[in-house]
Amino acid sequence: MSLKDFFIALSENQFLNNNAKKYGLKMGAASVVAGTNINEMIKSIKELNSHGISCTIDNLGEFVHDKAEATAAKNQILAVIEAVHETGVDAHISLKPSQLGLDIDYDFCYENLKEIVELADRYDIFVNFDMENYARLQPSFDLLEELSREHDNIGTVIQAYFFRAKEDIEKYKNYRLRIVKGAYKEPSEVAYQTKEEIDRNYIELLEYHLLNGKFTSIATHDHNVINHMKQFIAAHNIPKEKYEFQMLYGFRRDMQLELAKEGYNFCTYVPFGQDWYGYFMRRLAERPQNLELVVKQVFNK
Ligand code: FAD
Repeated sequence: MSLKDFFIALSENQFLNNNAKKYGLKMGAASVVAGTNINEMIKSIKELNSHGISCTIDNLGEFVHDKAEATAAKNQILAVIEAVHETGVDAHISLKPSQLGLDIDYDFCYENLKEIVELADRYDIFVNFDMENYARLQPSFDLLEELSREHDNIGTVIQAYFFRAKEDIEKYKNYRLRIVKGAYKEPSEVAYQTKEEIDRNYIELLEYHLLNGKFTSIATHDHNVINHMKQFIAAHNIPKEKYEFQMLYGFRRDMQLELAKEGYNFCTYVPFGQDWYGYFMRRLAERPQNLELVVKQVFNK
């Protein structure tokens, strides 16, 4: 088992997930999670906004199998939307359908999402449906399509490791899309496995959507991709209101500030809440060097 597979297996461990919620932010998670409650999260956002960086807020949590828990997550996201509206911070919402009941019942999940999207639409706040693993991909697109019949403040994510990503990006090009490499472990029947193949597809998808799509969030920490896209954007005169760069809170902070300073639209993905464990383990799987964050946190105490 590779180190990557090891951390992904840990991220999916229900027992550890449940136990982690009982203990604040541990194991270095505080450096990549912006607090455990709305007040702490808004404070972090104000700080990022002061550098010209907008934010997308993720109320941590996923793979919920209990209706009461999904309803609590919905209420928390509604409270986040109210807080964004009241404080006037520059931020929108990212959410995971599995936190809102996708694994329990499609219609129940739809109703939860509808409430969230409606409130956000009233305040002119954008809502992004994060994409999870392959089994949840098509139902998430279905939810997006159904809700977009009445609301245009929604968009989603295209994961470049999937073979079907090219078809999906063509189909959903009129949506605001975040394009990523992909964070979950997927079988070779549905997804590219090597870094070379994923990177090649990633660049192709970004270029396609920048030229043909509504709005592109270039979500990566990969400086090679970022440098390539900067040149592509300049060569094709892509207007600023058509794209932004995105990175996760706590990662490559200097580069985040630098891109904003250079005048690019920049958005930081800001996770907060008690349910930090799965998110944190996936970050370790992507880049075992992130363990450095853990070590620093432990020794700084
Ligand atoms: P990688 O391929 O991990 O790294 C490429 C190179 O970049 C590395 O070799 C290294 O040289 C450099 N590098 C990377 N990170 C660092 C660092 N921290 N410090 C220094 N150098 C570094 N995935 C999903 O499946 N669904 C989602 O909805 C989703 N949303 C996301 C939202 C945002 C804003 C971001 C940034 C990512 C999201 N992801 C999502 C995760 C994504 O799919 C990748 O797993 C993750 O971003 C790692 O890939 P990468 O493109 O950053 O670069």
